[in-house]
Amino acid sequence: MEQKRFLFFGAHPDDPDILFGGTAYQLAQAGHVIKFVSMTNGDSGHYSMKPEELAAARAIEAQNSARVLGVSEYEIFPLHDGELEPTVENRKRVIRCIRKFQPDVVITHRTCDYHPDHRAASQLVLDSAYMISVPLCCPETPVFDKIPVFAYSFDRFVNPRPQRADAAVEIDSVMEVKVAAMSHHRTQFYEWLPWGDGDKDFDVSKLNEEERFNHVLKWNRRFCIAADNGRETLKQVYGAEKGSQVVYAETFEQSDYSRQLPLDEFARLFLP
Ligand SMILES: [Zn+2]
Repeated sequence: MEQKRFLFFGAHPDDPDILFGGTAYQLAQAGHVIKFVSMTNGDSGHYSMKPEELAAARAIEAQNSARVLGVSEYEIFPLHDGELEPTVENRKRVIRCIRKFQPDVVITHRTCDYHPDHRAASQLVLDSAYMISVPLCCPETPVFDKIPVFAYSFDRFVNPRPQRADAAVEIDSVMEVKVAAMSHHRTQFYEWLPWGDGDKDFDVSKLNEEERFNHVLKWNRRFCIAADNGRETLKQVYGAEKGSQVVYAETFEQSDYSRQLPLDEFARLFLP
């Protein structure tokens, strides 16, 4: 088996896990190498913790989640949450990170997204797609031979157009592992996100095991929409019967800013 290397750039500690966790786990189980990057330290999204305390907690949560998913490295850039900008300095940080890891596939958010950090993360990664091959840019980190494929993860935004499901991976079979990994992000799924959704009195200690599972599963509902959008791709990669029965799927769109694969080859790239 040829080992493949996947590098996911999310804006916050939990984005790679949510958007790529089920696929990452299956790929890691099959012997492929996965790295997650959070381009901010997540020090802003909370109602009671101090920023430094929150960043420290999220760094630990990320490492615990990575262990569950079999992710080999979860790097967190020392940049403030809510303040990510597509600067040249940050672009160089991304270029060096890609060159050091030498991925076959780089994945990130799309540039149309409600969160300014998600948009900036996407912009930074796309701005690096060509520049990673320019030797005099960041010359201290040499150019590598491979030209990676760049891809976008799923989101629900339909303007200017919905994500195209060029690749679709069923995650029904690994949902328990994905939820277990996500559950390590306590400050997100058990604290900040319920609070932000208006549930100010949410208290995870009052939930039993099944209720906790269902609580975290809520953040996977979007992948039912992804499965429906990617139904034709699911049928192609898993066969008509299995493909039509998939409930949750993580889907990926090929970016046209880097190396282009035929779409059937792109779809197979994400399978374990
Ligand atoms: Zn995020």
